[in-house]
Amino acid sequence: SAMFEAKANNQSIRLFHQDIHHHLTRSLEIEQGIKRALEQDLFELALQPKFMLEDMSLCGYEALLRWHDPILGTVRPDVFIAIAERVNLGKVLDAWVLNKVFEQIHLWRQQGYDPKPVAVNITANHFADAGLFKLVQLCARTHEVPLDCIALEITEGAAMGNSPVIIDNLRAFRQQGVKVAIDDFGTGYSSLGYLKDLPVALLKIDKVFVQELENSRTYGLVNAMIAMADAVGLEVLAEGIETERQRDILKRMGCDQGQGYVYAKPMSLKEIEKSLA
Ligand code: C2E
Ligand code: CA
Ligand code: CA
Ligand code: CA
Repeated sequence: SAMFEAKANNQSIRLFHQDIHHHLTRSLEIEQGIKRALEQDLFELALQPKFMLEDMSLCGYEALLRWHDPILGTVRPDVFIAIAERVNLGKVLDAWVLNKVFEQIHLWRQQGYDPKPVAVNITANHFADAGLFKLVQLCARTHEVPLDCIALEITEGAAMGNSPVIIDNLRAFRQQGVKVAIDDFGTGYSSLGYLKDLPVALLKIDKVFVQELENSRTYGLVNAMIAMADAVGLEVLAEGIETERQRDILKRMGCDQGQGYVYAKPMSLKEIEKSLA
């Protein structure tokens, strides 16, 4: 039986190596795919509406990347964004999304629509880059759209970085009326005591908490997050609201805004345009 175990071990080591090999190959394919998709303009944007919990009125959108690749198939954004961030393609992707968003807002404004602010997700290290504000400003000028037609979302982890440039960027955006949200709030172990001093407007409570509201500890945690955000004058949005029950609980807790399938899924630009008309 000792021999059997040795064999079994060898087998699992081989499988383990195959796993790693497969993983690395896939990462490399995706990295090359991102560059190709940028050149061939294969990325698309979906917009997901955000609502005020109080009266269900629309209050903005979030831009979400979509990639259906002819060779790689559909690649999920959390997968390719993580790879892009690792191989230094995050800033290029951000620039693509910003440009696309301003271009679309320009077209809608030309058609006489005045869409609510579209929030753009910014990749991990970009907020620590002194060029970010200028990039956004240039994009806005190029498309002749006021800066405050967009908003920004940065993850809790990225906001916690200790570069003073992060604060400079946050201040510059605030001065121009661009609201910045802390994304995936609650997953990054930061203290609200620290966040209260950041010049941000909104906390987005991550969907893992919303989907676990039936759990009494999670309920208590979310309730506390909303109360504390309120106490320091920040707005709160809960993401991933899928049921009316979750929506009602969050509304009762005093959560300001909501986003999720119970209201609307991410929609194509065409679908959004129809809803504007
Ligand atoms: P995120 O920023 O936390 O975005 C929320 C995710 O939740 C989106 O997934 C959205 O489609 C999904 N979602 C919305 N409502 C519901 C709901 O009711 N239930 C459930 N289960 N999910 C819901 P998506 O589009 O797959 O994006 C995943 C992540 O990829 C995003 O998480 C964000 O971190 C990243 N991402 C997506 N687009 C971009 C982008 O343009 N730039 C950057 N930097 N990151 C992006
Ligand atoms: Ca987001
Ligand atoms: Ca999230
Ligand atoms: Ca409030």
